[in-house]
Amino acid sequence: MTRYNNMEYRRLGKSGLQVSALSFGSWVTFGKQISEADAEKLMHLAYDAGVNFFDNAEVYARGQSEIIMGNVIQKAGWERDSYLVSSKVFWGGDKPNQKGLSRKHVVEACHAALKRLQVEYLDLFFCHRPDVNTPIEETVRAMSDLITQGKVLYWGTSEWSAQEIQAAHTVARQYNLVPPTMEQPQYNMFHRERVEVEYSRLYTDVGLGTTIWSPLASGLLTGKYNSGVAPKGSRAEIDGMGWLREKLVGDEAKEKVEKVNILSEIAHEVGLSLPQLALGWVLKNPHVSTALTGASRPEQVKENMQTIAALPKITEEVMQAIEEVLANKPQMIVF
Ligand code: NDP
Repeated sequence: MTRYNNMEYRRLGKSGLQVSALSFGSWVTFGKQISEADAEKLMHLAYDAGVNFFDNAEVYARGQSEIIMGNVIQKAGWERDSYLVSSKVFWGGDKPNQKGLSRKHVVEACHAALKRLQVEYLDLFFCHRPDVNTPIEETVRAMSDLITQGKVLYWGTSEWSAQEIQAAHTVARQYNLVPPTMEQPQYNMFHRERVEVEYSRLYTDVGLGTTIWSPLASGLLTGKYNSGVAPKGSRAEIDGMGWLREKLVGDEAKEKVEKVNILSEIAHEVGLSLPQLALGWVLKNPHVSTALTGASRPEQVKENMQTIAALPKITEEVMQAIEEVLANKPQMIVF
């Protein structure tokens, strides 16, 4: 762990890459919810707070999100060695070779992302989901080749099972290819199994790094959905996000909201906001390399970034109190 100004930096798994403990992603917001000018403000706030990793994907707003991020980076003129930018391949388009993890789509998606983001290489490139229609060897070889060509620096997976990640490592060892460095899983107070149990061997066996998505469960862990109604301007109100609205204000959310209410009290007692408590809880896990934050307003970025300074307030006693409220610790089977 390294500190620079007010940010904490962690190694991405066993690699030498230093990634800010809080990073910034554009899912839902860029190209759908906010203007390019607002996206620019948010990225600058994050960068000025020490964020060095900006996350994206070919599917976000069908490429528009990468175009916006590329414009902001280009205009900012930030030194190339001061930030990391990613893309993810899987959902490129509707035609057969515009999706999945075939060599053809992996290579073409990389080229298209480089263009949209206006960079010469992607720092991180993720397989957005596993593809049962492509042999893992084909995908590993395509990613490894992109690294050899200098178009990608580190590659990883997102929502792959532990078994699939192990298989990618086995293939890489067998053919002397570059293995995946990191995985991008969902991890938050309500979604724990994969990071805490399923991947547990991978942290030591292959030195897996993790770039966590939805650390605030899309906003549920900010308390903004406690009334059971989606607040004006929130992502739950966006057209086409009905599936998410259901998770945030539907029946599924009721039990969680009861817990969120009690977590609010814990946050208040230790002098934190609820989003800071929830983000801090994610960062307390030593296997988390970075938590990807999302935001649609400047106040959210400012509040979230203060989590780093507030981390010492989340003591072991506080973690224990949270555990009792959550009552969802996934169990490891030990004989
Ligand atoms: P979060 O769970 O942290 O949700 C972020 C949203 O919560 C914001 O856009 C905002 O929504 C609300 N919010 C954030 N901070 C605050 C605050 N302080 N107070 C009140 N509301 C707040 O993360 P995301 O779901 O956005 O995921 C983060 C990133 O992870 C994405 O941008 C993307 O890069 C990545 N990701 C990857 C996935 C994958 O499959 N690999 C899947 C999903 C995300 P609102 O506008 O409603 O206020």
